[in-house]
Amino acid sequence: MEYDEKLARFRQAHLNPFNKQLGPRQHEQRASEEAPDFASEEALPELPPGEPEFHCTERVMDLGLSEDHFSRPVLRQAIEECKQVILELPEHSEKQKDAVVRLIHLRLKLQELKDPNEDEPNIRVLLEHRFYKEKSNKSVKQTCDKCNTIIWGLIQTWYTCTGCYYRCHSKCLNLISKPCVRSKVSHQAEYELNICPETGLDSQDYRCAECRAPISLRGVPSEARQCDYTGQYYCSHCHWNDLAIIPARVVHNWDFEPRKVSRCSMRYLALMVSRPVLRLREINPLLFNYVEELVEIRKLRQDILLMKPYFITCKEAMEARLLLQLQDRQHFVENDEMYSVQDLLDAHTGRLSCSLTETHTLFAKHIKLDCERCQAKGFVCELCREGDVLFPFDSHTSVCTECSAVFHRDCYYDNSTTCPKCARLTLRKQSLFQEPGPDVDA
Ligand SMILES: [Zn+2]
Ligand SMILES: [Zn+2]
Ligand SMILES: [Zn+2]
Ligand SMILES: [Zn+2]
Ligand SMILES: [Zn+2]
Ligand SMILES: [Zn+2]
Repeated sequence: MEYDEKLARFRQAHLNPFNKQLGPRQHEQRASEEAPDFASEEALPELPPGEPEFHCTERVMDLGLSEDHFSRPVLRQAIEECKQVILELPEHSEKQKDAVVRLIHLRLKLQELKDPNEDEPNIRVLLEHRFYKEKSNKSVKQTCDKCNTIIWGLIQTWYTCTGCYYRCHSKCLNLISKPCVRSKVSHQAEYELNICPETGLDSQDYRCAECRAPISLRGVPSEARQCDYTGQYYCSHCHWNDLAIIPARVVHNWDFEPRKVSRCSMRYLALMVSRPVLRLREINPLLFNYVEELVEIRKLRQDILLMKPYFITCKEAMEARLLLQLQDRQHFVENDEMYSVQDLLDAHTGRLSCSLTETHTLFAKHIKLDCERCQAKGFVCELCREGDVLFPFDSHTSVCTECSAVFHRDCYYDNSTTCPKCARLTLRKQSLFQEPGPDVDA
């Protein structure tokens, strides 16, 4: 009883051993070697004045008891010093008894911190996760996805999945039950596109949709939290109130407000965010009537596709790696209809039309101004045979859908206009099937 009281007093003092004003010299030294950022991490109360000698001894032994993030070498040192103090103090004195209690606590602490799995392999494959062992020399604080408690970066090893970034203590690794979300992304790369499709807690049998723990909206025995992406309810272990943009709300309502989602949905949505899986024209064609930026972006994308044939046949453009401008959005070089959630978010903030306009200008400059080879691949309007050289991505042009010849829009104003080039080709085909006749100009 008495011991506990005194111990509590020691703990109350809660001294920061790394505070340079206070600690004995050897601790100052250690502070700079092992834990440079501790001192700034927490502002600790200053040492009350008086009895410096005595306080120093106390502090040495109190090390590791009041703080959770000491490394094992510091604890071992504290244990050694505590032993020394016990030997030096008068036998059976109160102070000596205090010191013995402290020694016990320090040893327990050391035991607690000991990582049982230190010799574990660096890579573990579990439930399709690919876990890499991690260890830090900085005091990073992260939360274990399995046990929901803090991973102390300095003293504990942990594993992170390279696929989905699931993270847990090495001691929790063998307890995990959630399969890797990365595999879901590759097997099922399709979003739920109904807005928060709720079916009710009863359809889940009043259990967490993921771990099957009993839950209810009254919080008995455990709180039910709804995921805005799946519409289902989860326990607080599987749903941490993470916020995410919901694809269904974006494509139907052009709503980018982040909503609360389960851990699993959060990981899935994060892994999917740059994947171009939304065929917007089919999901919600009306969106183009309401969102001006999308119309602009669609036009820029169409133009870029028209420029692509120039670049893949131009040595100079290949050498300048012009198409790599779009390497972060590879799908923009392949089609003009697929969008990722990131594309839509960037369209919403205006960033996408800005960067696409820049790319468009750069590309057009190469083809029309900088490169002779590309310039030579321009068109003269065969309908009027007048004016400048035309390119398919010029705004005042029309392109024949059959042969890709380019005309002034005013000359080739609708589909009833006959394309002279196509007409020539037809004529030539006909003459080939008949007897060889006089040359037909191609
Ligand atoms: Zn854990
Ligand atoms: Zn994983
Ligand atoms: Zn759960
Ligand atoms: Zn060129
Ligand atoms: Zn013309
Ligand atoms: Zn044609």
